[in-house]
Amino acid sequence: MKSLYAQVAVVAPIKGLLTYLVPQELSTIKPGAIVSVPLGKRKSRGFVFAITETPPATEFEIKSLDSIDAEYPAEIFAPKLKWIQWLAEYYFHPIGMVADSVLPPLSKLQKNTTRKRSPIPDFPPEAPFQLNPEQHEAYHAIAADSGFQTHLLYGVTGSGKTEVYLHLFDKVLAAGKTGLFLLPEISLTPQLVNRFARRFGSRIALLHSQLTDRERTQFWWEMVQGEKQILIGARSALFCPVPNLGLIVVDEEHESSFKQEEKLKYHGRDAAIMLAKEMNCPIVLGSATPSFESWLNSEKGKFKLHRLVKRVGDVQLPEMRIVDLKKSATRSKELGLPFWMSEALHTELQSNLENNFQSALFLNRRGMSQSVICPACGYTKECPNCDIKLTLHAHNHLVCHYCDYHESYKSKCSDCHEGTLEPLGIGTESVETEIKKLFPTARVLRVDRDEIQNRIDLENAIEQVEKHQVDILIGTQMIAKGLDFPNLKLVGLVLADVGFNLPDFRAGERAVQLILQMSGRAGRHRKENEPNGVVILQTFNPDSEIVQMASQSDYEIFCKYDLKNREIFSYPPYGKMISFRIQSRDLDKSQQTARMLSERCFNLKDKSESFDQIQVLGPTESPIAKIRNEFRFQIILKANNASVLHRFAKIVLQNEKWIPTMVKLYADVDPMNLL
Ligand code: ADP
Ligand code: ZN
Repeated sequence: MKSLYAQVAVVAPIKGLLTYLVPQELSTIKPGAIVSVPLGKRKSRGFVFAITETPPATEFEIKSLDSIDAEYPAEIFAPKLKWIQWLAEYYFHPIGMVADSVLPPLSKLQKNTTRKRSPIPDFPPEAPFQLNPEQHEAYHAIAADSGFQTHLLYGVTGSGKTEVYLHLFDKVLAAGKTGLFLLPEISLTPQLVNRFARRFGSRIALLHSQLTDRERTQFWWEMVQGEKQILIGARSALFCPVPNLGLIVVDEEHESSFKQEEKLKYHGRDAAIMLAKEMNCPIVLGSATPSFESWLNSEKGKFKLHRLVKRVGDVQLPEMRIVDLKKSATRSKELGLPFWMSEALHTELQSNLENNFQSALFLNRRGMSQSVICPACGYTKECPNCDIKLTLHAHNHLVCHYCDYHESYKSKCSDCHEGTLEPLGIGTESVETEIKKLFPTARVLRVDRDEIQNRIDLENAIEQVEKHQVDILIGTQMIAKGLDFPNLKLVGLVLADVGFNLPDFRAGERAVQLILQMSGRAGRHRKENEPNGVVILQTFNPDSEIVQMASQSDYEIFCKYDLKNREIFSYPPYGKMISFRIQSRDLDKSQQTARMLSERCFNLKDKSESFDQIQVLGPTESPIAKIRNEFRFQIILKANNASVLHRFAKIVLQNEKWIPTMVKLYADVDPMNLL
């Protein structure tokens, strides 16, 4: 009998597959099997990717694998192998570490069959709504495909995208298949889950980071064994080996939080598209503000575009009014209002309160002030661990938003010992304090990362707003996404300029998305005789393109305009990017490594004409030059051809032995964060 060899992805920082001899008694082994293998002096878990009869060409002794894990039949993982391989290769991550993410957190034996409290509530079932003509058209156009096809569902806020998804899942389930619904972690709120629960009852399963290991293990098995048919989850749910997949939906596809920023730096949306391709099923990307990547793909015809241009039930999009804070400040002063409370916003808040409607104030900055500064010498307090100014919070705390360092705030300047440190700028906490003074009878709730530590806090906050126990909601981007509050009529963007000038080519795209998403919370439902929603956008830059375009509520115009700029400079989505980050506690070493890496890049460019198109930018200090005491440098590679760029980066990364210990080198393919 011929010997069999298994190509195994071992759970260790090893780039490729390792070959092991299959013992005679395990000769029924198949790709997808999980095995225990010797690795050095240890035993390690491994995933079998292929079985061959050809012995590998090596002078080393080939070891035998030890055993097959009986808990997971090979059929579970076999359909996922190609996708895992793609992730590992595309994102330059050890394949065994990628493969390991497909497993549930606990072993099945520990599976708890009776839950104390189900994370999915029981609900009276709800019949589907009759789709309106726009929804109907989109639904049919999407449902027409049963094989792989990417659809972009571009529907304004409140246009009924979710209802279209529900109908699509209905059809998939009726055909005996399963579905996967992906959302950014923060949007996985009970509002959304309850809607699915009311429609599909006990057929749904959940996977996200706030569930316990037991809950995740149980949902994992229920999906894998076909006991549940719709998996709702954050990007990590992609790794669950759902059998018989008939549809993937990625909601809020523009969200940059779909990109994982550590370890395997994958983009949930892109990985979902690859999975749909592997499973040969359709995928729907939904958004009121699509990413430029998806927009361009739909222009090129790679994605099919479907539009919902109206809100459901003839509800109008909110009216947007722009306030120039430079001009409104004088009047605010006369009225005894803080500079950021224009007369217009004040009046609207007041009348909303009198009419018993809810309002939301949005400011994308936590704390009491952005920083503290000494007016005598200009000194500002910085974090000792990070290249970041400290933010003043209540109870006289100075906090670093990157490493959570804090110290108590002493007003005497520690630099010149003369001046008194003064708060500069505003944050959600100072807005809350002032609002409580201005509207003493109003019930105020603040939702930001200081107040909301976990999912339960967020769920409680949402419930309070739903029950109208809150008149004025104040928050950061935590309140900007996906929430649906019928009585919310007014949205005030307190200082829309935050984020306009970040040194990132996506700053404009993100700012407009955030403005439109937050605005989209206003006036989503309207009973007869009720006013339409109102948005008051306050800014110091009323003439900026971002404000002008956002105010027209016409995302498409902005998209086309800003895409032109991207094209001129070959930025994504036209050009492709891979960034290298070099990080170390040792400043000299990190700087030297960055220089050496860039030399390697330039040398490689000289070696082949095909690399002429590759631009090597850097090395430079990262915009945030230090985080948690690690110095940060970066090199950005840019090119028009994605596969040439990828091949180039792969060669650069091939041999990492030259990198000094204590220095970390991270590659980030299609980086979303360049700070
Ligand atoms: P989106 O996901 O685009 O923001 P939703 O799907 O949340 O919009 O729809 C907004 C509101 O309209 C929801 O409360 C939803 O229940 C309701 N709705 C959606 N489609 C219909 C329909 N065809 N008929 C009646 N109500 C609908
Ligand atoms: Zn810090």
